[in-house]
Amino acid sequence: MYGRHFNPTVYNLSKQLAALEGTEATYCSASGMSAISATLMQLCDAGDHIIASNAIYGSTYALLRDLLPAKTGITTTRLDITDFDAIEAAINERTRVIYTESIANPTLRVADIPRLSEIAKRHGLKLVVDNTFSPLILSPKALGADIVVHSLTKFINGASDHIAGAICADTDFIQQLMDLHTGTLMVLGPTMDAQVAFNISLRIPHLPLRMAEHSRRTQLFAARLEAMGMNVTYPGLQSHPDYQLIGNMHCPDYGYGGILTLDMGASERANELLDLLQNVHHFGFVAVSLGYFDTLMSCSGSSTSSEMTDEDRSQAHISPGLVRLSIGLTGTREQRWGQLTDALETVGRSNSLQKIA
Ligand code: PLP
Repeated sequence: MYGRHFNPTVYNLSKQLAALEGTEATYCSASGMSAISATLMQLCDAGDHIIASNAIYGSTYALLRDLLPAKTGITTTRLDITDFDAIEAAINERTRVIYTESIANPTLRVADIPRLSEIAKRHGLKLVVDNTFSPLILSPKALGADIVVHSLTKFINGASDHIAGAICADTDFIQQLMDLHTGTLMVLGPTMDAQVAFNISLRIPHLPLRMAEHSRRTQLFAARLEAMGMNVTYPGLQSHPDYQLIGNMHCPDYGYGGILTLDMGASERANELLDLLQNVHHFGFVAVSLGYFDTLMSCSGSSTSSEMTDEDRSQAHISPGLVRLSIGLTGTREQRWGQLTDALETVGRSNSLQKIA
């Protein structure tokens, strides 16, 4: 009919992603944010209510807190998504959606998808899960989610050369998104360009190899950093509060993901480390994205979570010295480990350890 409504190349990528997430259908969008906003606006009418995790990507936070209420009257209660009593208490007659990231950006708390699904089903709500951090590792649909959204910009594309998103759901919902009168993808228009779809479709076949290696390296570095006494967070460490939970949900072939965080105590020390890692030791790049084949690093509080108020950041446990590392695949593991430890030594590891402890 028309490229914004249907394109065979975009459809081909959509079918690959539906297979990846085990959903009946998928359609691709121009960005992760358009996948999220189109989904939420399709599910909610003016004045409806969403329950969302308080630890989410900064633009999603801005969508829920600022844009949706101002433009549509859709309101959101943000809460600790591991507090099931608080979720039950927040549900009202206008609630339509429970929204969470599978592994939260940047806190790396893991959502208990089966438990959230049970609550959502009991109250007639839709459970929407952003699985950007954990493609192949977690399968939210199989665990009970209704709709899975992705920023393909990250691990799935893996080359940081495209901005793209996807909505994976049942056929009925995907058709609603494309309705000529009321479809948020069709009428608001943030569908995917065919050339982008073509490029990304060629990278899907090596996604399994990439995810396995991202996780292997991140697990190795996280364990070694922890053994050094660093304040490290990674879902694959026994010290992580959700280690058992993710162990029950994940696909072991793909590990626990390619992201770890390191709390350097203060933003000055975090930025000093990032500067050394990029400009002296060439461990990676300071950049707000993630899921690239090279390592990308950011100080979350002042970058990808900068939209949040100080109070909301502290409630979500995003401290000013939190460094997020998206561990890449290039170089040898030991070469990269050497670069990381050299930089840590230069910022005075023993000194910072005393302060962090
Ligand atoms: N969801 C998560 C978890 C993200 O980290 C991001 C971007 O960083 C997005 C969604 C938004 O994706 P995009 O930049 O493709 O719009």
